[in-house]
Amino acid sequence: ATATETAHAALHARHRAVLPDWLATYYARPIELTHGAGRHVWDAEGRRYLDFFGGILTTMTAHALPEVTAAITEQAGKILHSSTLYLSSQAVELAERIARLSGIPDARVFFTTSGTEANDTALLLATVHRGSNQVLALRNSYHGRSFTSVGITGNSSWSPTSLSPLQTLYVHGGVRTRGPFAHLSDAEFTAACVADLEDVLGQANGTVAALIAEPIQGVGGFTSGPDGLLAAFKEVLDRHGILWITDEVQTGWGRTGEHFWGWQAHGQAGPPDILTFAKGVGNGMSMGGVVARADVMNCLTANSISTFGGSPITTAGALANLGYLVDHDLQGNARRVGGLLRARLDAVAAGSGIVREVRGRGLMLGVELVEPGGDVPSATAASLVLEAAREHGLLIGKGGRAGNALRIAPPLSLTVAEAEEGADALASALKQAEATMEGATTA
Ligand code: PMP
Repeated sequence: ATATETAHAALHARHRAVLPDWLATYYARPIELTHGAGRHVWDAEGRRYLDFFGGILTTMTAHALPEVTAAITEQAGKILHSSTLYLSSQAVELAERIARLSGIPDARVFFTTSGTEANDTALLLATVHRGSNQVLALRNSYHGRSFTSVGITGNSSWSPTSLSPLQTLYVHGGVRTRGPFAHLSDAEFTAACVADLEDVLGQANGTVAALIAEPIQGVGGFTSGPDGLLAAFKEVLDRHGILWITDEVQTGWGRTGEHFWGWQAHGQAGPPDILTFAKGVGNGMSMGGVVARADVMNCLTANSISTFGGSPITTAGALANLGYLVDHDLQGNARRVGGLLRARLDAVAAGSGIVREVRGRGLMLGVELVEPGGDVPSATAASLVLEAAREHGLLIGKGGRAGNALRIAPPLSLTVAEAEEGADALASALKQAEATMEGATTA
């Protein structure tokens, strides 16, 4: 073994000895990232990768974006205080920008340090506003890892306990192409989900506070119902006064190409009552937040404070990052380059015996894998493709209820040449995985 391999093995052993067993990592030999530039990252062993997972979706624009680096370095040299007890011009400016972008009239913005905390806050607002701890969530959902947010996470492999401060009612709508409604047309599927929602509400115990939904389920494998589904849900919610929380942690900031927020694919549905965001806005720094209508945000009467939420350094970085995104029309880039990438992936899928479906939009594309020639979900295929892609210098994500979906979500500044490079690497990785699996069945 080389010196770097030995050092890596030692680090991995120490990681395993001191961090929790349930802390998920990718790859049999997890990667230690040391630096990045643009859409590329490097590991401690000197290998370069094209990053098709945006550092787990946190790199919204580009790695080591000079504008963001300059903003956080400048702020670091001034003061690193935190606490919402003091005013911050960056926090106010960022909140104003996000309030305008949110589409929610008379919006108020509260900054958090993660997506989990953003959803916890959204649920606190909704339950206090409505005086009920009953909430609706979609099956196969993921909303975070706190005690509250695991209670609305339908995907049991990410929800370690069934105990919860909430009473959660799960409804259909997040997965279009598998499950009991998979054979239905879009219109029939929507009608069936609405009927399911009405049925669940009919069995609810009095007031229901809110429905929380990811417009495209992220950890769930980049799945979604048909466009307009949430608008159909909204009609029902409005009749009962139930609030709509859109979790835009993965779908926000133009990633889906056609829209700035995922909920906008549902046309007349909006605006939502509460919107949560995180991940990409800080370009890797811990930042999340909640946007809500003023009456919903201000329903809390007890004082509150956040030590780290909206601190000067994270808001300075996020302002620079968001400014870059808007000035360079990265939403348009996600639409254009995402469209090309989608076409390439569709072509690759057509020649593969283990791809069941390519889905998603913009630069949020999922590839569902199955056993060769069949329809049985294959987590093995996803792991094999992930490892093979790594060998070809490409980082991707995985997810899905059965762990059988590949998740592709590069930084939004991805170029056409990089999209081609990634599609080629993925095509080779899929071939390699398929050959391995066929070898295993014939051996
Ligand atoms: N909501 C969604 C849709 C997510 O994908 C995630 C993170 N994967 C979260 C919430 C939780 O965010 P965080 O990890 O920042 O707590």
